[in-house]
Amino acid sequence: MSCAPGATFAANGCDVSQQASARHEPPSSSLEEMPVETLRRVGPRVAERLAKLGIARVQDLLFHLPVRYQDRTRLVPIEALRPGQEALIEGTIREAGVSIGRRRSLKVWLGEETLGGIMLRFFHFSPQQAAALRPGVRLRCYGEVRQGPQGLEMVHPEYRLHSDSVQIEARLTPIYPATEGLQQPTLRGLTEQALERLAESPPRDYLPPEILAPLGLPSLAEALLYLHRPPIEASLEDLVERRHPAFQRLAFEELVAHQASLRQLRRAQRARPAPRLQGDGRLRERLLAALPFALTEAQARVVGEIAHDLAGCRPMQRLLQGDVGAGKTVVAALAALQAVESGRQVALMAPTELLAEQHLRTLSRWLEPLGVETLWLAGRHKGRERAELLARLASGAARVAVGTHALFQDDVEFQDLGLVIIDEQHRFGVHQRLKLREKGAGAEGAPHQLIMTATPIPRSLAMTLFADLDLSVIDHLPPGRTPIVTVAVPDARREQVMARVRAACGQGRQAYWVCTLIEESESLQCQAAEEAANELAAALAELRVGLVHGRIKGAEREAVMAAFAAGELDLLVATTVIEVGVDVPNASLMIIENPERLGLSQLHQLRGRVGRGGVESHCVLLYHAPLSRTAQERLAIIRQTTSGFEIAERDLALRGAGEVLGTRQTGLVQFRIADPLRDQPLLPPAQRAADQLLEQHPEAAAALIRRWLGDRHDYGQV
Ligand code: ADP
Ligand code: MG
Repeated sequence: MSCAPGATFAANGCDVSQQASARHEPPSSSLEEMPVETLRRVGPRVAERLAKLGIARVQDLLFHLPVRYQDRTRLVPIEALRPGQEALIEGTIREAGVSIGRRRSLKVWLGEETLGGIMLRFFHFSPQQAAALRPGVRLRCYGEVRQGPQGLEMVHPEYRLHSDSVQIEARLTPIYPATEGLQQPTLRGLTEQALERLAESPPRDYLPPEILAPLGLPSLAEALLYLHRPPIEASLEDLVERRHPAFQRLAFEELVAHQASLRQLRRAQRARPAPRLQGDGRLRERLLAALPFALTEAQARVVGEIAHDLAGCRPMQRLLQGDVGAGKTVVAALAALQAVESGRQVALMAPTELLAEQHLRTLSRWLEPLGVETLWLAGRHKGRERAELLARLASGAARVAVGTHALFQDDVEFQDLGLVIIDEQHRFGVHQRLKLREKGAGAEGAPHQLIMTATPIPRSLAMTLFADLDLSVIDHLPPGRTPIVTVAVPDARREQVMARVRAACGQGRQAYWVCTLIEESESLQCQAAEEAANELAAALAELRVGLVHGRIKGAEREAVMAAFAAGELDLLVATTVIEVGVDVPNASLMIIENPERLGLSQLHQLRGRVGRGGVESHCVLLYHAPLSRTAQERLAIIRQTTSGFEIAERDLALRGAGEVLGTRQTGLVQFRIADPLRDQPLLPPAQRAADQLLEQHPEAAAALIRRWLGDRHDYGQV
């Protein structure tokens, strides 16, 4: 068959009105089920390559959208060409020959009579090619124009020897994300076939017109057709920026599917019973009386929200959002005590052992005096020790357990787990969240869950990404914090920065020196920290210098951290392992080496380690010049503001939602087409549409979830 889209397309027609009328009859063999192997020219090899692109069914092929388009719909006169432009041109070969310069190449001069010309250059060519490209032959080429030493040129353009049968394309040419061994013409040919099938049996439109019409979005079939084969007059810019209604239509549908799945999850969750953890307040009162501070208004408010949920008979699913240093730990402790007062156990899970240790220290300091046993379960607890810890949990002797995900291994059993608290939610995906819930599910139902995050996700976004959760926000920092002054200093002035550390520590303050490394290699990072520690210890001989990094484990690391917290060390050299949770109010200076290597939220989290006491704190960004533009922008943002929310918003604008939320790593939310940041205006209607579908057309909601989340929707059934 012909791979030229234009030809088939004409036969296909794009009369969507016909398709619309066919829409309501369920097709005998739907695109959702049809394997790609049913297409012509798809054998095992092609199927395997398609699988690499995540394409198994014909429908997947239709959802595999072009990343950009080429305009081969019109010929650009050679004399009108500009460098940087991609264009379809036509001309007669004036001269051709193989030149043996630094690199052997075939040079072909293409021109139009006396007007200007362009040189085509081929570094790889067969003798047949060289023979065919001889003077006098007419040629049509497509390629990128660039400025060469002898004027304009195209390197390795696509070309065809001209004959009248060669049509100019009637539509813009799609360029698909490709993979090795699967080139554009193949993908174009396959999508062409898929579009034919689409015309024969359009996919069911699960979104009813009453939802779509007010948004001015096209039908699914229309949208797919448009995106794969846009008409000549389409705005390339709208298409590429993915703001075209056809694109928005797909993004909307995907967002609705995600919303529906999360809502369904939430409903399933809320349909289950949970233990009522009313508590009598006696332990909470004692803790509040013992604390050296009073709760802020924001803290008191979220404590109330949580207390209310815990006392209910449905499992709480609450996200507690609060900037670094907002005081989430005490809120968690109060929730834990409410559960303990009600005779239940509590599990608190942190993403790293370091953070788990920190929580253990804080919680035991607060809870042990109240007679509440708090236990730490770490990966390194082995053999007898582990068995004893497990026994204390199973017997109910220990009321609160702190740990990493090790807490939820199969051999860990609780006597009566009533509440699960997860710190730093964005590091755990929705699947882990569900697994945890199952862990505590007993005869009396599922435990309550409190999820804490310091990632200040804008509210509208949070409501979408965590539509299965209720949201509590601590929106004010505790009083008495002095703002952190942040400066950027090139590493050429390292000595001066070291002198500053000496001066601060000389006044009884403590400091952090953080080493970063661009490689994902932990061992290199540890090595860099070791070297820095040696250098600093030598240069600042009067200071007591400690070191923590990922390879210093367990008791040793604990001892270093404890010594720093107790003021027995002046300077703590560390890798980014200290990012979350470490709390030493006397530390008022932080040096971050190569801050340009870190993302904004990571920098913000790191910096949050200082500014926790009463004195003015400083953060020095010791960067390595020259800085890229983005790096400059990022460091400027960090210098200008200490508000996590503002940083998150600007980070979003700079990088996109996935990265900010760390979801690319965790797989928390994976969208195929939608981008919650770019498509923010679609979020509220998507949420409404999801609710409406679940209410009025549950089968359509289920089908939509299946279409967009495939196997990933399993958790919707929990
Ligand atoms: P985060 O929200 O980052 O986990 P923490 O819970 O570690 O913050 O709290 C940061 C610091 O603020 C801790 O030293 C904590 O004891 C202190 N803190 C918490 N609440 C208050 C408050 N209401 N007033 C004064 N200090 C507080
Ligand atoms: Mg914390």
